[in-house]
Amino acid sequence: MAVRIVAAMEGMEEAIERLKEGKLVAFPTETVYGLGADARDADAVARIFTTKGRPATNPLIVHVADVAAARDLAGEWTPVADELAAMYWPGAITLVVRKTDAIPAVVTAGGGTVALRVPDHPVALEMLRRSGVPVAAPSANRSEQVSPTTAQHVADSLGQYADDLLILDGGACRVGIESTVVDATGGTPRLLRPGMMHIFHANAGESVPTSGDDTPRSPGQMARHYAPAVPVHVLPAKRLRKDRVAGDGVIQRVVVGQPAPEPSSNVQWLPPDPDGYAAGLYTALRLLDAAGVSRILVEEPPRGPRWDAIHDRLRRAATPKTDVQ
Ligand code: AMP
Ligand code: MG
Repeated sequence: MAVRIVAAMEGMEEAIERLKEGKLVAFPTETVYGLGADARDADAVARIFTTKGRPATNPLIVHVADVAAARDLAGEWTPVADELAAMYWPGAITLVVRKTDAIPAVVTAGGGTVALRVPDHPVALEMLRRSGVPVAAPSANRSEQVSPTTAQHVADSLGQYADDLLILDGGACRVGIESTVVDATGGTPRLLRPGMMHIFHANAGESVPTSGDDTPRSPGQMARHYAPAVPVHVLPAKRLRKDRVAGDGVIQRVVVGQPAPEPSSNVQWLPPDPDGYAAGLYTALRLLDAAGVSRILVEEPPRGPRWDAIHDRLRRAATPKTDVQ
């Protein structure tokens, strides 16, 4: 069989073996499921790109067991990186630093910097610690599509495309959307991609100065990403009620203090708080997509720093295919 789902504790030995042999392993993290391979092995990493259909210009995040393993891969471990790692790792924050030669160009889209993270998930940590392998891993879905937050989502996304893939099943991901990405190469941290770690959102939207080739931009930040197959529209509640027609799928927010209404095949309810909302968002998008709705209308969530990452993902999900640059 091309794709196998195995309970994480039963599949751990095999997963570690596979990483050492240059094969692919899908594994749970607290953000989303990753499609991993040995980051030092260019051929293994190339298989990630072909399985996902990911453009070579979109660099990968390298997952490591601890700060020491991260430092080994960093050409320069800055005071900013050191401080953030001490405060937030293991956690849903990715630090971009200068890379060493141990990291092949395919991982970084040819750039001189590498994105590093220690994930806060027992399965991922055990795999990283016991194998000693730094694991390059983007989300375990086809490029542009909604990231997987369960093992079954991975099988649904990649089943037709993977020649040989082991999926470690560690249950549903707690955070539910991708990590916060921070440029830690300079004297002050800069936000490159918002996530549910909200500490840097004051800098959101700030442009990164271009002082030379090595300046980390945020490559791979495609306008359309995290997108279901059908069109997505984010609308204020009133407008949604007015525009809604038969055949539409709807994502609504439960009113604070009220119980969640029963979901139906074309209406999904998400918790009122940002953490709960993020944790359920991708599953809701997938369920509506699978239900065969003609469009997905999303009730616009509140504004504010804690909602930034959610608005970022909804904006990309709602970007029409024709707008992709
Ligand atoms: P994904 O694995 O799909 O969550 O995507 C990883 C994202 O991390 C990329 O799309 C970039 O936005 C970011 N990233 C990875 N490596 C770098 C890097 N060297 N410099 C800046 N951003 C990066
Ligand atoms: Mg992704």
